[in-house]
Amino acid sequence: MGQVITCPSGLTGRIRGMKVKEERVLTDRKLARTGGQVDELLAACWEETLDPGPYDLGGRPLDWGKVLQGDRFFALLQVRAHTYGATYGFSVGCRADSCRAKIDWELDLASLPVRPLSDASRAAFLDGNRFEATLADAGKKVWFRLLTGDDERKLPAVQRASPERVLSSMLSYRVLEVDGVDPRHKRAFLEDLSLRDADALLDELDRVDCGVDTTIEIECPTCLLTQDIELPFDRGFFLPGRERTRRRLERISSSPG
Ligand SMILES: [Zn+2]
Repeated sequence: MGQVITCPSGLTGRIRGMKVKEERVLTDRKLARTGGQVDELLAACWEETLDPGPYDLGGRPLDWGKVLQGDRFFALLQVRAHTYGATYGFSVGCRADSCRAKIDWELDLASLPVRPLSDASRAAFLDGNRFEATLADAGKKVWFRLLTGDDERKLPAVQRASPERVLSSMLSYRVLEVDGVDPRHKRAFLEDLSLRDADALLDELDRVDCGVDTTIEIECPTCLLTQDIELPFDRGFFLPGRERTRRRLERISSSPG
């Protein structure tokens, strides 16, 4: 029996756990490269839409490419938790240069803070995914959009195209229009932004978006340094049993005697 979940935008549906046949999706390198893995997995495990939230389905099944990043990630977390339980174990290296010990950490996925899509953001999304912000230094209004699954797939290529200009390609990708600036000069305008404006704009992009906060605080058991990390997504996220076995074996082989 599936489980009913409600995503940050209000999108509600029934999910099922992952099955052995999803292994093909998880190990498909071509899918991983094109970013299609998440779409395939979500499409397979999403059994039924009960409330489309802000998405216009037009009688068709939910298209995950049109779904907001925050919803996609939330649904993915729920599928994982429904399959194996909400406990996620992983290992990261301690950040302290003097330590660098391996930290084994366990987290309850249900404890990650979820930010719902506000009414104002929902209205802007429905109105063509168009959000307004004002740049203080430049003294101009800009319109930008929230990212969906289709963007998630395109962005790595955009960033690879100019690796030394990730910030400006990211902004250029998300900013639709600048008040009084010819679309042909948008990129040049954004290149010329003060970093303070760019930083404030990135904050605004985050503020109006919905999603799951994946920055967590962990403490190194060796040197006791607390540190903020981005939740890692290694193999243990989708195949936790194998990861658990590996960590257990490592502990046994590294224990003295
Ligand atoms: Zn440490």
